Amino acid sequence: MSDVSADEGRVAPRSAPWPASGGLTAPFRAVFDAVADLLLPPVCIGCRTSIDRHGQLCGACWSKIDFITSPICDRLGIPLPFETGEVMLSAAAMADPPAYDRARAAACYTTTMRELIQSFKYRDRQEGLPLFGRWLAQAGSDILADADLLIPVPLHRSKLWSRRFNQSALLTSEVARLSGVPAEVTLLKRTRKTMSQVGLSADQRRRNVSGAFGVDAKRTESLKGASVVVVDDVITTGATIEACARVLRKAGAARVDALALARAVEPTAWAL
Ligand SMILES: [Zn+2]
Repeated sequence: MSDVSADEGRVAPRSAPWPASGGLTAPFRAVFDAVADLLLPPVCIGCRTSIDRHGQLCGACWSKIDFITSPICDRLGIPLPFETGEVMLSAAAMADPPAYDRARAAACYTTTMRELIQSFKYRDRQEGLPLFGRWLAQAGSDILADADLLIPVPLHRSKLWSRRFNQSALLTSEVARLSGVPAEVTLLKRTRKTMSQVGLSADQRRRNVSGAFGVDAKRTESLKGASVVVVDDVITTGATIEACARVLRKAGAARVDALALARAVEPTAWAL
């Protein structure tokens, strides 16, 4: 079971729902994997139809994910309608610049992506974690290239207790493994319990998370002058990431970027 300890933030992800066969020699591993596939045949992590490999999506589910590709707004990471060959900003970013520097997300928060994230988060379905990690590493390749530290958006202790794991910490661990950027999963803390952001307006979300985060004052050395990437499962209005960015910057971070699996995109966000 993938888990993040409430006290130590240790992450122990696994990629398949049975014990690792990595210690076996090649012929034995092949037999082990074949038997495991017979016992637990691979299914699509979205719709559960039979496929040929574990932890993947079927073609139909894959085609329903709105991956975000270039051209994008350099600040918000949202898709833009045309390429100019230069660094571009959306009208939304210019009108209301975010507290973080740059955000990147793998896909828009729609249909299949929303269902995948909700299954991962609320129904403890973690077989997609290695795939999610690869999506994050790819979407965030430019901000990860010069990052010093990865930090997940923390859960309050009470929520960590009931959910048993912090989905953002699991994602952070995967990105750290793939990118080589070190992760610090307990430095940033949620110091105040907040309401669920679901159903709140942008202004209500901002007030809900204001003052809800803090850093461990004895461990801020790694933040001094650092380029930090805050990892979350989804960015909706950005209020949570912005609250984290303010705290991290105040504690000494030189730059705070954001990386998420999905981002809510207003259809008119890029329009003037
Ligand atoms: Zn499917």
